[in-house]
Amino acid sequence: MFDTICAIATPLSAGSIGIIRISGEKSFEIISKIFNKPIKPEMINHGWIIDNETGQKIDEVVVLPFKNPKSFTGEDIIEIQSHGSPVIIREILNLVLRNGAKLAQRGEFTKRAFLNHKIDLSQAEAVLDLINAKTAKTASLAANNLSGSLKDEINSMRKKIIEILAKITASLDFPEDVKEVEYAEILSVLDFTKNKIEKILENAHCHNILREGIQIAIAGCPNVGKSSLFNALLSFQRAIVTDIAGTTRDTISENIDINGVSATLIDTAGIREGNIDKVEQIGVENSKTTIDDSDIILCLYDGENGAQSKDIEVFQMVDTCKKRLYIETKQDKTLKNIPQEDFNIGKTLENPIVISSKTNYGIENLKKIIFNEIIGANIEDTNFITNQRQQEALRAALSHIKMAQDACKMEELQDLISIDIKSALISLGEISGEVVNDEVLDRIFDAFCIGK
Ligand code: GDP
Repeated sequence: MFDTICAIATPLSAGSIGIIRISGEKSFEIISKIFNKPIKPEMINHGWIIDNETGQKIDEVVVLPFKNPKSFTGEDIIEIQSHGSPVIIREILNLVLRNGAKLAQRGEFTKRAFLNHKIDLSQAEAVLDLINAKTAKTASLAANNLSGSLKDEINSMRKKIIEILAKITASLDFPEDVKEVEYAEILSVLDFTKNKIEKILENAHCHNILREGIQIAIAGCPNVGKSSLFNALLSFQRAIVTDIAGTTRDTISENIDINGVSATLIDTAGIREGNIDKVEQIGVENSKTTIDDSDIILCLYDGENGAQSKDIEVFQMVDTCKKRLYIETKQDKTLKNIPQEDFNIGKTLENPIVISSKTNYGIENLKKIIFNEIIGANIEDTNFITNQRQQEALRAALSHIKMAQDACKMEELQDLISIDIKSALISLGEISGEVVNDEVLDRIFDAFCIGK
């Protein structure tokens, strides 16, 4: 049995309410000592928190009791909703601690939910993803994981593997009574598992991008319209726009949502030749580093003048970046009309994306093209998201499945084949947490905040 733990579950700043959460077998005993009325289980209780040593009234609160196992952690839980004053919230927490609870570690509530089999490890990790989600898309995928979509996917594979292992083991243990499993039957389970894992891993890159976000740099000569595009993508005025070359001396960055992908958009200082002062020179150096670190670079030139040798020189200076799109600005002056739904535009200077930050011409289309370049179209099919740890386990499982497949095709002894199949099962079990060591658990839950 675990200790009874408590923590503040809301941010410690002035707000309308603050929540103190207690979990463990002493939860009801503790609240009964500090609440001015008997607690009615499964009811919303309204009353006062009283210091049981001094008799001092601390705050008028609402207490939500949850009896085990019908609670988040699977233990008795008390949630005290107080007024959102950091002083009051701390005072109540201290009172709870004085009456027998221990301060929770990071993520300890969720860890208990996992250890008490309320959720599997993929769902516990989803709680963290949900809290940290930067876009609605990542939040909705994390919510799917929390409701068990990844867990179900993994379990569907584990179930088939366990069934075939049971058959192989039975035939090995009782060769007189149970006949050997057909190799074709084993192969069909291995094929099913391999295909499923490969499909998930195909999207791993997209999952990582969705979780971690991308960096987009806007580059080009001074006055081509970088700051204006930055503002247009942001939909509000952030960068100072002037027609004096070199106005943006340093890089400015903001977070934006590119169709569900969290992106850091960077407006770089104008890179240009000629006489520039020292401050501007530092800005130019910073721009080059930023551009090198970016996932995609938007290469801008002024549509009124067309791409000139100085523009091309700038684009050549930033050719270390993996992906780039060419963008012709100020369409409202040239009035060029381009097909909006062509995903190949922007790949070359001859076929640029044409935009106007003034009229917003082509801006939504640009977002779609960036999304397509970075993520591709696949992500629409997926209804869950994986993290690096889960991907590593999937890769390990896949390599064991492949070894088992090879052995099966060569009709090797089935007890040898079963060793690889068992190893694949163990790797899959690491995702759901069936097989997991304390070190991995500590690493996962250390990333949480206290009170979750
Ligand atoms: P930067 O130096 O590359 O960041 O360029 P700015 O965004 O500061 O723009 C330079 C000048 O071009 C400013 O006077 C802007 O108002 C103008 N400009 C930028 N984008 C457009 C556009 O789409 N249409 C028009 N007509 N002017 C633009």
